[in-house]
Amino acid sequence: MSDRLVLVINCGSSSIKFALRSELHSSALLSGLADRLGSNKATLTWQNADNKETLALADGEHATALAALLPLIERHARQPLSAVGHRVVHGGEHFTGAQIIDQQVLDAIRANAPLAPLHNPANLAGIEAAMRVFRQIPHMAIFDTAFHQSMPAHAYRYALPEALYTEHGIRRYGFHGTSHQYVSAQASKLAGLQPNNGAWLSAHLGNGCSSCAVLDGRSQDTSMGLTPLEGLVMGTRSGDVDPNLHAHLARTLNWDLPRIEAMLNRESGLLGLSGLTNDMRQLEQARSEGHTGAALAIDVFCYRLARSLMGLAAALPRLDGLIFTGGIGENSALVRGKTLEHMTVLGLKLDTERNTSAPRGQACMINHSDSPAIMVIPTDEERQIADESLALIPH
Ligand code: AMP
Repeated sequence: MSDRLVLVINCGSSSIKFALRSELHSSALLSGLADRLGSNKATLTWQNADNKETLALADGEHATALAALLPLIERHARQPLSAVGHRVVHGGEHFTGAQIIDQQVLDAIRANAPLAPLHNPANLAGIEAAMRVFRQIPHMAIFDTAFHQSMPAHAYRYALPEALYTEHGIRRYGFHGTSHQYVSAQASKLAGLQPNNGAWLSAHLGNGCSSCAVLDGRSQDTSMGLTPLEGLVMGTRSGDVDPNLHAHLARTLNWDLPRIEAMLNRESGLLGLSGLTNDMRQLEQARSEGHTGAALAIDVFCYRLARSLMGLAAALPRLDGLIFTGGIGENSALVRGKTLEHMTVLGLKLDTERNTSAPRGQACMINHSDSPAIMVIPTDEERQIADESLALIPH
């Protein structure tokens, strides 16, 4: 079997993350980050198994960063690239899966920009620049929203006037699709089930957090909605609040929309609750030293997560297991333990010893023998993007 290579690109407004993935190797051959784009301090940092290097970029243009990537890829790739896979945040209702990028796909990503004004334009700029640098290679778009297009209408519709949906696309879309799809497929393997069989609750807990109900490889419901602000408590994002909060703050404090949006997206969540940090590792440390704000932030985070997961169980006919992933889900025995304290109604029981000694970076089961599976599964969104890109081209 030949070993095909994919360059995975995640282009944001001020950064580009990249990874060179091979079909046969589990880890990246080369990975890195172009950072501080848009400023005169832009850098490109790359690493492989042996080296790590940072280069200054001549200017802060995305195109300059991608052009600097080309010789690096040529040096590290043993053969020509088979595809470039781009992470795109919002595919709206246009896309239910990965796409080979052509003019129609570019237009649709542009048309979805009002739904993700911070992300889609940056993704698009990255795709267009990359298509100029990496010519004659198929470019693929993999959407954060696509996996959730299998949600039924009763899960994706808000109880709002119909015209807001039919004329303006106001509905629940969900995000983190590549991660939920990847870890739920790994869960089926770990449980010894047929590929993509199983009824799973998945908790992706990183700086952004979302939960998802997956049945036989298809998303049934998820905690994020029209935007990635809905749902769980996150690092700096509030998650669910009373929908009347905007009006209340405008009326009583005279706050305008940009102020309210900034507060909900950047000053809330773990940071807002603790008054200390958005970083769970630091919160755990502060909690152990008696910081009450840190303890409260962790309590709210875990309780609201449990409540969300229990609510998503309504989307499943049975429960084969619960999956923890993302920086917090993979590493915090405290968060896993505290969350499961609120979930005994579902019959989920942790094995305390397995929970605390779960090996870093490896998929494992941490449940008691008389409980449905509870799994820690390292996510690998780049692997999923690479695999979906390759699936679109003939072998
Ligand atoms: P991610 O966005 O997936 O990289 O996850 C970032 C979050 O994971 C941050 O809140 C980190 O503090 C948290 N995290 C990473 N390692 C640990 C750890 N060992 N214990 C607790 N939280 C961790």
